Amino acid sequence: MPQNVPEFRFSEGALKVRQFLYEYWCANGRGPNLRAVHEGTGLTREEIIEAYKELELGMMCVVDLSTQNVHVLKAPPFSSYPTVAEVHVDGRFLAYAGCAMESLAVSMMPPLSDKQVRIEGYCACCLDAVWIVSLNGTIVAYEPKSLAIHVSLSPREWNNTNIVHMCDAMNFVFDPEHAERYERKICRRGVVFSLDQALRFVTPTGRSRMWQYDRGPDYMRPQRVLDFIRSLGVDVSGWGESAPKLPGDREKPWARRGTSR
Ligand SMILES: [Zn+2]
Repeated sequence: MPQNVPEFRFSEGALKVRQFLYEYWCANGRGPNLRAVHEGTGLTREEIIEAYKELELGMMCVVDLSTQNVHVLKAPPFSSYPTVAEVHVDGRFLAYAGCAMESLAVSMMPPLSDKQVRIEGYCACCLDAVWIVSLNGTIVAYEPKSLAIHVSLSPREWNNTNIVHMCDAMNFVFDPEHAERYERKICRRGVVFSLDQALRFVTPTGRSRMWQYDRGPDYMRPQRVLDFIRSLGVDVSGWGESAPKLPGDREKPWARRGTSR
């Protein structure tokens, strides 16, 4: 269970592979196979697999180590398989974002600087279309105006095995009513981030990812994540946590959810 992993440093090989993953994904819209990584980094099969193991422990990717070709499933902010968030650049589909939350950080990637990144997604409950346009990490337009992100898995369970389930639990919802309908559909409660709260949540990672070549591992420390989310003003009571007590909470439409049920 890779939570609370002790601090460690990425090897040179891991840093090289991570940089290559980002460059390749931004350029091609998909992850590389082993040969592409070999061509791009000069590393051997064994060195690449060792690097992937480090990178997964440091929450930089998800690979399927039960496969001989070590399938790359995710390298946030990107996903190899279809997700709720399509990334369109220059009017064309580029790639799938890892999840609704990560989609907000895609336009922070250096190769996408000064490009309009359009995220096309859907409400988790009714599949109606939603979209967001970002530029250099700033949201410049979106629909609907009530758009928010529903997170139906507590940070206490994030990365229990890997980040696949965490990402899958982060979905767009049209408004509070749709959020509650989705919760009934999946028989699970959750927490709702406004777009602004979600953007503030992903910004520290988005602003350092790929900008800083030797950036260290991420660690899943559930209590710290919860404290950070609470500090953004998010009502975390849907995860069974105590809610933030901030002045003015009642004026925010999303803050009323906790008391209405
Ligand atoms: Zn809906």
